[in-house]
Amino acid sequence: MRVETDFKLGFKDVLIRPKRSTLKSRVHVDLERQFTFLHSKRQWRGVPVIAANMDTIGTFATAEILTSHQLLTAVHKHYSLEDWDAFLADKEQDIYERVMVSTGATEDDMLRLSQILGKYPGLSFICIDVANGYAESFVDFVAEVRHNFPDKTIVAGNVVTGEMVEQLLLSGADIVKVGIGPGSVCTTRLKTGIGYPQLSAVIECADAAHGLGGRIISDGGCKCPGDVAKAFGAGADFVMLGGMLAGHDESGGQLVERDGQQYKLYYGMSSETAMEKHAGGVAEYRASEGKTVEVPYRGPIEATIRDVLGGLRSTCTYVGASALKELTKRTTFICVREQENTIFD
Ligand code: 5GP
Repeated sequence: MRVETDFKLGFKDVLIRPKRSTLKSRVHVDLERQFTFLHSKRQWRGVPVIAANMDTIGTFATAEILTSHQLLTAVHKHYSLEDWDAFLADKEQDIYERVMVSTGATEDDMLRLSQILGKYPGLSFICIDVANGYAESFVDFVAEVRHNFPDKTIVAGNVVTGEMVEQLLLSGADIVKVGIGPGSVCTTRLKTGIGYPQLSAVIECADAAHGLGGRIISDGGCKCPGDVAKAFGAGADFVMLGGMLAGHDESGGQLVERDGQQYKLYYGMSSETAMEKHAGGVAEYRASEGKTVEVPYRGPIEATIRDVLGGLRSTCTYVGASALKELTKRTTFICVREQENTIFD
């Protein structure tokens, strides 16, 4: 047993210090980034915010709206080939650069992935997602996907430490997804005691990835647009959102009404709700590591997207970054014991 005594930080432990700036208005802040990916060598340009590959978030309906803002959607893995057929019929080329095909790491997953990409070779992103990205078998699966799809941009995760980011990049991933336990409907830390505060995970993993020419996604734990800005400030190339995008018209999940109020169900992909729905129940040997919550219904997702992007633009003006690309080097975090004023909460 070993104890690491250096303090690890979450979003709630820091604020970003404002800096002198010559920027006149947030209108001038450029939120688009351009990347050329390590292995696929593909170029991508857009706003690097991603809807999570959960069946309540990464829906086709979400993808349609997010695409129009140049954002990405990791489309959840429970759509069939026929669902993809219906979604892609007559779609413009842009959508192929703005959706990721999500997959697990089993043989069946590989089969389904091959069917979708075989039929729609224009789709450029694959998101290989498992709860624990530390297993050797997962690394082998990533290498197999790279071998089978040499020109696709591959996302792999989740991990939270630099050495595993390096391992996944060397095994064929272009982008590594970072986050174990910070999610709004995740109970991994409670069930297993495993985790890593998200801000430190991002700082350390970004450093490891950028050294090799790879990219990272900060996945989970953002509660407000300020947290999204902190993730980018910490070095994330992309930020993935679940809970912040829940409860909208475009979200999956049942709409329920109680005492005249409307709510939408939002649940973790390892929750009992998800396992009942997709796997016919929770297997005996495992515990569910996700929960189910009711989110107040929030109408169309459009307003929330504008709120997130508006917040990010404002962060950039406070620190004098004319583009999102500059945010990390303009960021100084200060460690704090308080965040916002909660008098009216
Ligand atoms: P949020 O933005 O809601 O804080 O986090 C979304 C992320 O939580 C997802 O992208 C995914 O990585 C993670 N997640 C989703 N469902 C579950 C689950 O059931 N268990 C765990 N441990 N994490 C989950």
